[in-house]
Amino acid sequence: MADYVLAIDQGTTSSRAIVFNHAGEIVSSGQLEHDQIFPRAGWVEHNPEQIWNNVREAVGLALTRANVTYTDIAAVGITNQRETAVVWNRRTGKPVYNAIVWQDTRTQKIADELGGDAGPEKYKAIVGLPLATYFSGPKVKWILDNVEGAREAADAGDLVFGNTDTWVLWNMTGGVDGGVHVTDVTNASRTMLMDLDTLSWREDIAADMGIPLSMLPEIKSSSEVYGKGRPGGLLPGVPIAGILGDQQAATFGQACFEVGQAKNTYGTGNFMLLNTGTEKVMSENGLLTTVCYKIGDQPARYALEGSIAVTGSLIQWLRDNLGMFSDAPDVEWLARKVDDNGGAYFVPAFSGLFAPHWRSDARGALVGLTRYVNKNHIARAALEAVAFQTREVLDAMNADSGVDLTELRVDGGMVQNELLMQFQADQLGVDVVRPKVAETTALGAAYAAGIAVGFWQGEQDVIANWAEDKRWTPSMDEGERERLYRNWKKAVSKTLDWVD
Ligand code: ADP
Repeated sequence: MADYVLAIDQGTTSSRAIVFNHAGEIVSSGQLEHDQIFPRAGWVEHNPEQIWNNVREAVGLALTRANVTYTDIAAVGITNQRETAVVWNRRTGKPVYNAIVWQDTRTQKIADELGGDAGPEKYKAIVGLPLATYFSGPKVKWILDNVEGAREAADAGDLVFGNTDTWVLWNMTGGVDGGVHVTDVTNASRTMLMDLDTLSWREDIAADMGIPLSMLPEIKSSSEVYGKGRPGGLLPGVPIAGILGDQQAATFGQACFEVGQAKNTYGTGNFMLLNTGTEKVMSENGLLTTVCYKIGDQPARYALEGSIAVTGSLIQWLRDNLGMFSDAPDVEWLARKVDDNGGAYFVPAFSGLFAPHWRSDARGALVGLTRYVNKNHIARAALEAVAFQTREVLDAMNADSGVDLTELRVDGGMVQNELLMQFQADQLGVDVVRPKVAETTALGAAYAAGIAVGFWQGEQDVIANWAEDKRWTPSMDEGERERLYRNWKKAVSKTLDWVD
């Protein structure tokens, strides 16, 4: 009897493998960071082969630490950094270029040209997304346009594309020896190439971007058996049965199955998703419309999403680029040494501004400085920036959905930061709730896979396993709350129009 489900979380900073038991508890895990490659300002790349090696090593570690083998694993679920584009040769298994990461801004010109007179909203009614550097399609176009021989190889049918879910799945299921080339609806909804109604590729948009359809993976649901672990691998014959983009996986793991339920993940960036059910809601306030999940043959569920490019990565930046501390959690200790931000506001528009602004021309700014401001204030301003950006997104959600959220479920690496969580509740004016299992991304992928093979019966098992760990309640005076937010807005206005 297989008692466990394995989740692979191929994230922006690391790849994790986690073994879960039937109660949805973590039994063991393995984790390896990969290199962040910055060849030029605005460019961010990963090495796909390093990622695949790390995934294998993480799986090996997780299995060893749980003292189990593949026969104990009922199914494998994959969740991944979305939008990050890998193009590889299906005959050799070799990537033709590094993975171009979601934060990378090199496709600005491509996005502008594709929009033409119609502007950034050109495909929005079909794909739910504005033309921006964030999404996969223009990244694939960049590779075909700029890597020598890539276009010819693509036209000859030798090249394939995938987000990292597809790259990992293809390798796990055999690679050049019959690896399956598949993605799920949630990942496909981040490419700008999928029609949100039909859940199939749009030939016309792919043609606009010069991407042959033969490169694109087959689109499947988020919960079904796609293939099995290859013979000779770590998981021979084990069904790989769930794929969800990381943010959709977290929404699933947070048991947000009802219309109107939302979660916010605090990782490298921040991502708030609101379940809108089988109805696709088009945003008028700068949010994305995306697929939330689709279980087997059941209808797809949609979500409104507010994506913020830089939150946890601002803390990394303080650590790595300024050397302010050596561990990300230390930022809290610094920030607690002062009572307020000392008048400083930090807008981390390092990749432009995502939701709700969508301004690729913005760049970061630290404003309000006086001789009084010290590094503790800056640490605090960085944490506050995370909460202010989240408030902008929540306001947009409330406006689009016409209902005010009453509480927000949170997860991700930064939710261990209690100062941030309290300030977040204060800024939003609603309760902020952290679940017992904060690894909701991996958990969601495990649930999707486990449901596909009958290990779990369905959403009701996920709801039954969800448990609250801690709740923060707003306590800030209303006048102070609004004063801070007004100043934040002023600071944001200083960052626009920076790039010509
Ligand atoms: P991802 O899945 O995007 O790789 P994680 O959810 O693992 O990210 O979160 C890691 C991010 O959270 C890093 O950017 C790190 O700087 C930040 N982080 C982790 N712990 C803390 C903390 N206690 N306070 C503030 N930031 C933190």
